[in-house]
Amino acid sequence: MAAADTPVLLLNAPLVASRLGYPDLSGLDLLELFAFVHPARFCVPTPKGLAHALGIAEPASDDAVPALLQRAATALVATCRGEQWAEREGAWSALQSLMRLRWPWAQTLLPHVAQPERAERWLFSRLPEWEEAADRPQPAQIVLEPTEIEAQLDHLTGTDSERREGQRDYARAAGKVFAPRGERGSPHVLLAQAGTGIGKTLGYLAPTSLWTTASGGTAWVSTYTKNLQRQLRAEARRAWPERRGDGSRPVVVRKGRENYLCLLNLEDALQGGFGGRAAMLAQLVARWAAYTQDGDMIGGDLPGWLGTLFRKRGIAALTDQRGECVYAGCPHYRKCFIERASRDSAQADVVIANHALVMVNAARARDPANRPTRIVFDEGHHVFDAADSTFAAALTGQEAIELRRWIVGPERNAKGRRRGLAARLADIASYDDAGGEAIEAAVEAAHALPADGWLQRMAEGEPYGPLEALLSAVRGATYARDESGGQEAGYGIETEASQLPGNVVELAQEAQAALARIRQPLSRLGARLEAVLEDAPDWLDTQGRARIEGARHSLTWRIELIQAWEALLARLGGPADPEFVDWLAVERSEAREFDVGIHRRWLDPMKPFARVVLEPAHGVMLTSATLRDGDDWDGAIARSGAGHLDVAPLLTAAESPFDYARRAEVLIVTDVPRGDLAALAGAYARLIEAAGGGVLGLFTAVRRLRAVYGRVADRLARTGLPLYAQHVDPIDTGTLVDIFRDDPRASLLGTDALRDGVDVPGESLRCVLLEQVPWPRPDILHRARRAANGGSTHDDRIIRARLAQAFGRLIRTRDDAGHFVVLSAAFPSRLLSAFPPGTPVIRLTLQEALERVERGASGVAVAAENSDEATQ
Ligand code: SF4
Repeated sequence: MAAADTPVLLLNAPLVASRLGYPDLSGLDLLELFAFVHPARFCVPTPKGLAHALGIAEPASDDAVPALLQRAATALVATCRGEQWAEREGAWSALQSLMRLRWPWAQTLLPHVAQPERAERWLFSRLPEWEEAADRPQPAQIVLEPTEIEAQLDHLTGTDSERREGQRDYARAAGKVFAPRGERGSPHVLLAQAGTGIGKTLGYLAPTSLWTTASGGTAWVSTYTKNLQRQLRAEARRAWPERRGDGSRPVVVRKGRENYLCLLNLEDALQGGFGGRAAMLAQLVARWAAYTQDGDMIGGDLPGWLGTLFRKRGIAALTDQRGECVYAGCPHYRKCFIERASRDSAQADVVIANHALVMVNAARARDPANRPTRIVFDEGHHVFDAADSTFAAALTGQEAIELRRWIVGPERNAKGRRRGLAARLADIASYDDAGGEAIEAAVEAAHALPADGWLQRMAEGEPYGPLEALLSAVRGATYARDESGGQEAGYGIETEASQLPGNVVELAQEAQAALARIRQPLSRLGARLEAVLEDAPDWLDTQGRARIEGARHSLTWRIELIQAWEALLARLGGPADPEFVDWLAVERSEAREFDVGIHRRWLDPMKPFARVVLEPAHGVMLTSATLRDGDDWDGAIARSGAGHLDVAPLLTAAESPFDYARRAEVLIVTDVPRGDLAALAGAYARLIEAAGGGVLGLFTAVRRLRAVYGRVADRLARTGLPLYAQHVDPIDTGTLVDIFRDDPRASLLGTDALRDGVDVPGESLRCVLLEQVPWPRPDILHRARRAANGGSTHDDRIIRARLAQAFGRLIRTRDDAGHFVVLSAAFPSRLLSAFPPGTPVIRLTLQEALERVERGASGVAVAAENSDEATQ
């Protein structure tokens, strides 16, 4: 009632609203004010985090928070009045727009933000333009000497640092992938197991930096998590300057285009494309765009919490998610963040990217200078998963509707600037008759694809057109045959694509023919565009040329997409292809359907990976703390793809220098019955209380995570132990980890993404808690791979890898210590090799575990000493 009566000062309104169970809560949110005053500046969205960001004293207790919020508001408003406000430019104009939008803070701020003497330049004229640069020559062929590598490593680590032999061996081994290639199609492949704490990042950056300097070439360092990318960006500063003499950047972070702000989408949003709260978000994003380092909205310098404050998918709508970029046809092309990142990376010494992007670039980079040839895959144990999704094919309703929109344009009543093929290539259509006819034919044929409302029509049994008819039959067959238990639980359901009913096969043939009718004119159009480029008319200027080249590039990959769909459909009626696993699925969340389709994965995705990434490369290194399984390299070699090229990879391993025997304990709790949610929740609450927070709780199912959270969060909060949870709190995962890191009394619950992406050294993470042994999900794809890879040994390898990853979160530095607790009555001994040799493993009751956890990290060391004495 108080909040409804008068605007109250809040910090993170959506989170407070969800905690109070009052979704309509709104007010003066300090995070919005912070985003306005200090765009592109980091802030952990908690009272303590805000205090740190503003340089004021942090609150001593929860009671002190209201006063802190007032002090923070005063400080931010005072900044706007002050002379030293670094982000003043653009603020006055943005505030005028925010006034019109009735932003809650606008009235308060208005008297404090002075009108500039001269009119402020519009954001789009203020941003700098990128420059074209000449192609780099091919890299010189050089061999790195071990002594040079060691000297460079010394230089990077600093002369005062201790000499680590493991790191030196590792760095020398990494240097071998940069040697000249002996034979075409046979790259150097190195698999390097690097125990936590050996200093692997500088270990490979030493030879990488030597090679880039001496050869003039570009090396790619690829990660799976954004967190490691951030870390690498910081570490790379030791080897390369921020900028070269000519102002260009030697180190460039590169992500998929869907991560970057699209200026054309932003302009559209600022000019009425967005309404209500989303329009305010667009204004705050525009403030950020003027100060951002590289325009990266997801995991870059845009606060991760900004999007969730506005509750809509506003951030996604400002990126180029759907490949609707018009390239040189765009008025902001010369300032575009995506184009800048692409150009910068062609000139860079090192490109920091992610696995998926490396694979996509290897497969279809527009510019050959952007094809990676020397690659270090850090977090190399994820290359398999990344290849699995990159080389997958899926003909689903959502994918097909995207294709329709790309060809036909938006449907009636659609907002925004999206345009179809005919509008994008209007000049070609009027200049080249054959091109114009091809566009017309493609648009006509694309009406066979699903349109808005397809899910509704399917549910009502009234699909429209051949693709919707097929998807409707796929849905029917999936419901008829699925036995996964997902139907009752409200999850997605699936069935294998074999022995399908006759109507599915017939409809698949009709859909295949319809797809061919779309593909053929698109191919003709591609040929016409090429012809126009070859024999360019006078009116075609450089911009127009670039636009047509862009269109041709997007056409090519859409044609490939349709071909993959046709192949998928052709298979439905015929014999199975042993290279692939195909299945039908209805995607659901809490019993609500959101997509239906046919899926195809490679049984071994490292086969296309070997062809697309390894074969053209000169040197590739895969490294991780959990590459091999125990001492066994076989799985790691198979999952590197090297076998498909007949290349014998070089192998190297450096053991972790950490004293796991003294710093960690694995506790296997045997008396929490499986499937008993109340007992599970009780165990979580008691363990978190015993540890005094600092617990990372990992789940294999979101449903159980939510159930446990629902039962224990309130109880813990009352004892001053905040609990945060992925899939529950309206906060992005990266920010959740920032909050967890910042508060040693906080605990965090999550699923897979946290098993790998959390790097929290020090006191904040003292205990990792697993609800059960992380068995793989027994879906159709898993069943096929299990059968092809030795049955239960395949499962065991996956589980050990997951356990090792989860355990790896616990000890990040020499001084870390803590407990790794698994709640599992039956924990097979064969899985214990997942833990580093020497780590004590104790099977015990919950009560005994609580006692050990309560003694805390120091208890681990004491226990180790006692056992030493006992042995003596
Ligand atoms: S060039 Fe493409 S991605 Fe860049 S701003 Fe323009 S439309 Fe957006």
